[in-house]
Amino acid sequence: MVRSFLFLLVLSLFGFVSPVAAQETITVVESTATPDFPLSITFALTAESSGAEIVEIDLLYGATRSEVLSVVELAVEPATRVRVEHVLDTQVNYLPPGTEMTYRWLIRDATGSEFSSPPQTLFYHDQRFNWSERTERNVTVYWYEGGEPFGDELMQTSLRTLDVLQNEIGTQLSLPVRIYIYANNNDMRSALQSNEVEWVGGQAWPGLGVILGAIEPGDTAEVRRIVPHELSHQVLHQATDNPYGGLPVWFDEGLAVYNQETRDVGFDGLVQAAAEEGTLIPLEALSSSFPADPDQAYLSYAQSRDVVAYIIQAYGEEKVQELVAQFKAATPVEEALQLVLGVSVDELDAQWRATLPTPAAIPTPGRGPQNAPPDRFGSTSAGGVGLPAPDVAFGGIFAGMPSWGFLALAVTCLVTLFAVGGGLLLVLLRVIGVDKRV
Ligand SMILES: [Zn+2]
Repeated sequence: MVRSFLFLLVLSLFGFVSPVAAQETITVVESTATPDFPLSITFALTAESSGAEIVEIDLLYGATRSEVLSVVELAVEPATRVRVEHVLDTQVNYLPPGTEMTYRWLIRDATGSEFSSPPQTLFYHDQRFNWSERTERNVTVYWYEGGEPFGDELMQTSLRTLDVLQNEIGTQLSLPVRIYIYANNNDMRSALQSNEVEWVGGQAWPGLGVILGAIEPGDTAEVRRIVPHELSHQVLHQATDNPYGGLPVWFDEGLAVYNQETRDVGFDGLVQAAAEEGTLIPLEALSSSFPADPDQAYLSYAQSRDVVAYIIQAYGEEKVQELVAQFKAATPVEEALQLVLGVSVDELDAQWRATLPTPAAIPTPGRGPQNAPPDRFGSTSAGGVGLPAPDVAFGGIFAGMPSWGFLALAVTCLVTLFAVGGGLLLVLLRVIGVDKRV
């Protein structure tokens, strides 16, 4: 039924105009998309022609927010009435719950005339759980355990975070964000890609406006850690989204950690210790990605948070808004800092370091707490059907298992790197007129 090769052509979702001529003769009798989360989406079409036989049908689909479509050419037995079906394996081409999909059909007849069906949308929901939901100010939270009090807590934490971000970044969410809170890690993992590493405790896709978290009802500390961190990424992403990228990772992650209502235990000790030992990472090196080494990645989060806090304290919150405006305009980091703060990246780094102990000032060991925080964040690039890369949060079950946290952070960096690289690739492909993704 399906010739089953994907044209990895990606077309602008709404910009594509078909050479229409057979509009009057071809009719869509039925067009459906049936989700079976987390396994598949079945697309089916029945079409009729009152003129020449239908000889070709393409299915075009993709995440609405990503504005790109994958094309599947379906095998057709030439006839005036045809039915085709395509089962999209969403374990292979992963789609998170909450993804809004858009799809349509291109139908050609034997004379070469082409008919394009109007776009239809599909909400790929995780229907396996009996979700409660609340929506306010473009945030929808979904949960299925803990009753109304837990939903209240999730929503109130979200709204507090939006207020804080309004002051810091100067903007609200312009596009909806969906937050799915699973009651335990097993449930959440069953919604992730089947080959997802075991220690992943949460994920988010700023490009799709989707956050997944595993939080046990009553775990207030975890609500106040995960929700503000991930919402910060979403708001900042929407505020700075542009085709050229350029948002420094240290700024994005630093702001996300800074906004957590539950602080990560041990960060202060890490930064202090690294300062005393002279092993702080140059800020410049944290612009495009975090280091792969787990310890270094962990330190990267702590440093990024402190640098963002330093900017706010030393220069004022309004400077954060001005930086956001520059990143929205795709101004390179070095130039943006010069324009807004009047310093280079290295000078900012030096100013911040001057607030810390120096290797010379403090002889040796005197180190701060070396224990890792109970759990960690990371962002990783779990691929998907042309999906933007996700940010990953690592859940509370990893308490006392710092190496996992470190690993998570390492993955985060890689993800960010992929996200940036993917963005550049997309721009390049747009320039040459063709974009390919799976
Ligand atoms: Zn993050």
